[in-house]
Amino acid sequence: MFQKSVSQRLLLPTIFLFASWIFSLPLLAQDDDTPVFTFRNSIVNITGDLYRASNGAWHAIFLATEEGIILVDPLNTAFAEWLKVQLDERFDVPVRYVIYSHSHFDHAAGAGVFADTATIVAHERVVMNMDGRFPHMPGDMIERNNNGVIDREEIMIPTTTDPGICGMFDGWFEQMDQDSDGIMTPAELQADILPPNLTYSDRMSLTLGGKTIELMHPGKNHGDDMTAVLFPDERVVFASDMIADALVRDDIRSIPSACGPLDGTPIDEWIRSYEAVAALDFDIFAGGHGGIFSKEDISHPIQFLRDLKAAVQEGLANGLTLEEMQEQIMLEEYSDWAYYDRLRPKTIDAAYRNLTLFRY
Ligand SMILES: [Zn+2]
Ligand SMILES: [Zn+2]
Repeated sequence: MFQKSVSQRLLLPTIFLFASWIFSLPLLAQDDDTPVFTFRNSIVNITGDLYRASNGAWHAIFLATEEGIILVDPLNTAFAEWLKVQLDERFDVPVRYVIYSHSHFDHAAGAGVFADTATIVAHERVVMNMDGRFPHMPGDMIERNNNGVIDREEIMIPTTTDPGICGMFDGWFEQMDQDSDGIMTPAELQADILPPNLTYSDRMSLTLGGKTIELMHPGKNHGDDMTAVLFPDERVVFASDMIADALVRDDIRSIPSACGPLDGTPIDEWIRSYEAVAALDFDIFAGGHGGIFSKEDISHPIQFLRDLKAAVQEGLANGLTLEEMQEQIMLEEYSDWAYYDRLRPKTIDAAYRNLTLFRY
């Protein structure tokens, strides 16, 4: 096992670090919890030759084999450059695969650092999300006027309503609008994301240095191009922004950061996709955010979604308005979860919109 960390200051003048502010909740710090909010880089061993590499609250995972390294999520270019130096020093084998957990810019950027040796692997919908059209974006940053580019108000509406949760922070749009013409093209947003050159639809295996790993698309939830990666020998699963979302820290019991109509995915599919990950054969969940969790830990967010759906469905059946549901549905068994006071009404709002938008 080895452990080493390097301090990396917030002040680095790159958009990649600023992109990493997404969902990092400066405003929630005044709430019932204080999120961890640093950008320290670190590498820690999980088990065997499997390691977690972190940029603050964003985590990647990599498996070191004799023939090379399999990395999931480069996170951002500055971090990937740091990681490459670490990997070269410690392992002296090239990165052969870079897998994307999904296409969102705060997890998938930076693979160009490894492009001379690595195959970039992702779910097939990542290609669609990089074809020049308005891509799937995190939170409630959605195409509102069908003009194909990311307008300032499409960022500022969710940023003003839910800064750090469903939108970004003031000034992010201007940073990403590289030519300062007042619109952000998908190309500007994705300037540091390499398109994959190997894709799959449902499941795929990769073998390197005598080790085989499994990629699975569990269905839609936070994104529409999600990949969970199973390391069978290590009995570890990695997935980003799902099950343990961006608000989760050491305790997985954290009210989910639901946006819009639950990020545009029917709640049944959220539950099904989470259950598909839970059905994999593993002991440890080491995802893109949060601590190192057990299989039992990840049953909690799945049960939360089931209970949320049941409560809001019952409210709809009883003819309650959204406001009445927000007053009456207390989800008491979750009252000790992080962000309960702030996010309970918002999560009910998202489930209400979800269940009225997607009929069952
Ligand atoms: Zn995401
Ligand atoms: Zn994330």
